Amino acid sequence: MCRGIMDTLISNNSLPLQTLTFPKALRLFVLAPHPDDFDAIGVTMRFLRENGNPLYVAVAASGASGVEDTFCSPPTAEVKAKLREQEQRASCRFFGLPEAHLAFFRLEEDEAGHPLENEANTDRVRQHFLSKRPAMVFLPHGHDTNPGHRRVYAMFRQVAREAGYPLVAFLNRDPKTIRMRCDVYLGFGEEEAAWKGELLRFHRSQHQRNLNQRGHGMDERILRVDRQSAEACSVDAPYAEVFELEFFGASEFGDILAGLSPQTSCDIMGAGGKEANS
Ligand SMILES: [Zn+2]
Repeated sequence: MCRGIMDTLISNNSLPLQTLTFPKALRLFVLAPHPDDFDAIGVTMRFLRENGNPLYVAVAASGASGVEDTFCSPPTAEVKAKLREQEQRASCRFFGLPEAHLAFFRLEEDEAGHPLENEANTDRVRQHFLSKRPAMVFLPHGHDTNPGHRRVYAMFRQVAREAGYPLVAFLNRDPKTIRMRCDVYLGFGEEEAAWKGELLRFHRSQHQRNLNQRGHGMDERILRVDRQSAEACSVDAPYAEVFELEFFGASEFGDILAGLSPQTSCDIMGAGGKEANS
């Protein structure tokens, strides 16, 4: 076992994503707590899109609280929410996501602008989730200092447990993740990093806020984490997007694939799956 930088990442026999073969029939769903959480795993999303997997993205919260008053006029919550949706639509266009595959939930929020964990919000997540029936779900890890990430994870977990079919969650590392395992990673180089930086900079309000408050942009903030992740998990590439796997109604990838038709199941993963608690 190797311990990651500041113990954020625990890496024990992590698998590169490229060693796994995903049948195209597996539907992917990104449950982004905020606009820009999709982009933080953009290279993995591009890899899987090029593999031919149908991809759906839903953004849970408006993200209005992340916009500085100086960035828009008038600086109301509604104007800020619309702005962040425009930024997400622009980044998804650049990515090549069909517009119909992007949804905004605008869940009820608390006074600080974080989505609430309540029955109405959980229902909204459940309805959309069950209409897509994804086999693989991507979202930020729940062990995070950000209340929005924690609550969206908690609502997702409830929905996934009750879904009634096997699925796997890929819980990604975020700058505010406290601690997680690295079960699967996607290593990448400078060319993909430049593309990802461009994707992230479509979130202009967040890029500017990072420049104002942290002295570096949104792109550098995320790519720094990816550099640390690659180092902590001894990845043979300068950057890595890393994931902890959580299975629901399944204990390994084989169970997920068993839910597919016999034809698509033949295209099974090369590495024989990944145990839930390895
Ligand atoms: Zn977020």
